[in-house]
Amino acid sequence: MPKTEHSQWYVEEFAPTEFHHHAIDEMYYTGRTPFQSVAVLRTPVFGKMLVLDGDTQSSQADERIYHETLVHPALAAITDRREILILGGGEGATLREVLRHPGVARCTMVDIDGEVVELSKRYLAEWSAGAFDDARANVIIGDALAYLKDDRGTYGAVISDLTEPLADSPSFPLFNGDVFRDIKARLVPDGVYVLQASTAGFHNMALHAKMARSLRAHFRHVASFYTHVPAFDNDWAFLACSDSHDLATLDPARIDGYVSQLHGENYFYDAQTHRRLFSLPLYLRRELAREGDVFA
Ligand code: SAM
Repeated sequence: MPKTEHSQWYVEEFAPTEFHHHAIDEMYYTGRTPFQSVAVLRTPVFGKMLVLDGDTQSSQADERIYHETLVHPALAAITDRREILILGGGEGATLREVLRHPGVARCTMVDIDGEVVELSKRYLAEWSAGAFDDARANVIIGDALAYLKDDRGTYGAVISDLTEPLADSPSFPLFNGDVFRDIKARLVPDGVYVLQASTAGFHNMALHAKMARSLRAHFRHVASFYTHVPAFDNDWAFLACSDSHDLATLDPARIDGYVSQLHGENYFYDAQTHRRLFSLPLYLRRELAREGDVFA
């Protein structure tokens, strides 16, 4: 019987009949918070990983692919970057990317789970890279739903870095018409609402399409974009919603001009990458064009 040096494995479901086995080199933390189960572990290929409710949230090896894609197309498009709002974003990497632009005066991040934020500070410091200590960071531990109901601020961009809106997820109540209206009301006139919008994988793109259909009832432009995120073992999708900007047609010179203003170097995103992100395959365009259910 061939020997294997790994006795512990993190197994993530790709589909009910497909699983991805990650050998565990080190388990830093595993437990339950009032909102979700949390695991922080290290694997040989992806390095450290954050897992919530059995779903990989991000990995050391490729988190910049996800976080640069979520943040920079939207911030490149808008003109007023002074105030930015992040819904979720526990690890602090979305906050990190937003604060790389000198035009941001304050970035408010609202995450429901203080334990996830503290565990990320303790075990995943590379993700936030000092962003939590930045004077422009306004970190609030609380339900984003309640925050949106009470808040009267306006933002150049609202960035949704929440867990997937699955029925048992604490993020589910944030995906409906009332919340989309609340978010739109918080945007400045040329503002952008951008969200991680589930998978664009050929085998399970229905949730992404449902999100796009739902948001078309609220915004003039709803642009779908996606990229492969190796740690998710899947094509991951995003949506950019605005009445002013169609991010699919953003001027490349504007993008590269914006990227040149950021502190530090990008790993993944620039004008050429942008073109690829918004070039959707036929099967996905067909799925997005289909009639179907919505988040009412
Ligand atoms: N990259 C991840 C993904 O693709 O699914 C998302 C990462 S981030 C860790 C997700 C965060 O959403 C978690 O920290 C979780 O606590 C937060 N969250 C879930 N529901 C929330 C709610 N109702 N209000 C605020 N934050 C919430």
